[in-house]
Amino acid sequence: MYENNHLISRLYAACKGRETDRFAQIPGRDDVSFQALFKGAEKTAAALVACGVIPGDRVAVQVEKTIESIQLYLGTVMAGGIFLPLNTAYTVSELEYFLGDATPRVLVCDPAKFDDIEAVKGDAELLTLDAAGQGTLIERRQQFDEFQTVARGANDLAAILYTSGTTGRSKGAMLSHSNLSSNSEMLREYWQFTQQDVLIHALPIFHTHGLFVATNVALLSGASVVFLPKFDADAILEAMPNATALMGVPTFYTRLLDDPRLNAERASNMRLFISGSAPLLVDTHAAWEARTGHRILERYGMTETNMSTSNPYVGERRAGTVGFPLPGVEAKVMAEGAEVPNGDTGVLWVRGANVFQGYWQMPEKTAEELMDDGWFITGDLAKIDADGYVTIVGREKDLVITGGFNVYPKEVESLIDELNGVVESAVIGVPHRDFGEAVVAVVVGTTTPDAILAALEAALAKFKQPKQVIIVDELPRNTMGKVQKKALRETYANLFQ
Ligand code: AMP
Repeated sequence: MYENNHLISRLYAACKGRETDRFAQIPGRDDVSFQALFKGAEKTAAALVACGVIPGDRVAVQVEKTIESIQLYLGTVMAGGIFLPLNTAYTVSELEYFLGDATPRVLVCDPAKFDDIEAVKGDAELLTLDAAGQGTLIERRQQFDEFQTVARGANDLAAILYTSGTTGRSKGAMLSHSNLSSNSEMLREYWQFTQQDVLIHALPIFHTHGLFVATNVALLSGASVVFLPKFDADAILEAMPNATALMGVPTFYTRLLDDPRLNAERASNMRLFISGSAPLLVDTHAAWEARTGHRILERYGMTETNMSTSNPYVGERRAGTVGFPLPGVEAKVMAEGAEVPNGDTGVLWVRGANVFQGYWQMPEKTAEELMDDGWFITGDLAKIDADGYVTIVGREKDLVITGGFNVYPKEVESLIDELNGVVESAVIGVPHRDFGEAVVAVVVGTTTPDAILAALEAALAKFKQPKQVIIVDELPRNTMGKVQKKALRETYANLFQ
């Protein structure tokens, strides 16, 4: 089935012969079989084509997580379109930028936002889909039964995902059919996913982690999923005794650890806990192992590259590292135009079939970051140890330059995080008249600034020591659990003015 469509034929292959088996269990809704999943996707594809979608058209989507929205992803690709998911947190004025940039043929939104979005939709046909899986998209698709997939090859685009835009405007990362299929196929092998797996799927699906890593790996393996609309500790703990795998961001793990019901017995059927999208603290890794007996497998990737490195399935999962470059992915650490020796910090470059096709309508940005020979400059600072394990040190733009000296926030954060009474910390640079930037530590915990400064005095060179320590209740995070350093820099911009 679907042989003419590179990605869909692959996503369907493992489901063949098991059409009536369960793909998804969804609390409060009927189970969904593989057949029902793909049938709904076909109907969606037919409805999109009836709206005028032709190969290469963008289908933009800002909707809650439902099986129907997964069918919208699959249906868009079946129709030869380019799936363009948007974070549900974006406001209408933010949407205006994305819509102007991507000029989608169809835009699917939550009915509650219909009136506001209509004003900014441009030429797009506006359809709705709500959290219960209902809306005009579903009404439209009811009149169709089946769909012949549109032919699409390995190099055609399947999706555009906007990066979170921490510096300047968000950029649309163009991902081809084979960028997605090759990465997920490799992850299936590397993490040993099979039909026997039951994956707890609680990640959002407007992001590479939940959409591609979780959904594509499950489909490619013919695994089933416990499909949760969002992170919900109760639902995850309830699902765990009958599940085998969980993919999460670090906050999933810290929140589950807060729940006394998490224990080794509850996790005894689980074979794999995966974390990514933000750094997992060494403490969290240790606490999880102590409580459940499982060592979390941490991996690293980004919208532009899919997944690039992973700790091993078999072998040592080293806390604080993101493991080895995945099979078929090359990685190197560069500084001043040359590869640095093992253990030194520089900017991580990666190359492989996982790397995207460039930024949508931004040829200059693409040329700056994606080299002609295929290397992509990730913008992440990293080091590779003698055993080949990669450690992410932070984003290059978060590097603090104070009085002409470089300070890697992670070095300071790691020391602070080890202190008694500290939960976590974020080190930033803020404008300073003498130093250009001053090192500031924002800390969550029950300790005092003086105690932290005293502890760092002997451990760090003077220029790396924070000029000020601020104690807060929590760090600002986005939905993927990433600490928003940009927001912190804005909050404390005038500290030394
Ligand atoms: P996104 O494009 O939203 O997936 O964000 C990608 C960025 O998240 C990367 O460039 C890293 O800075 C960060 N990231 C992803 N996984 C990890 C990880 N395991 N450890 C540290 N940072 C990570």
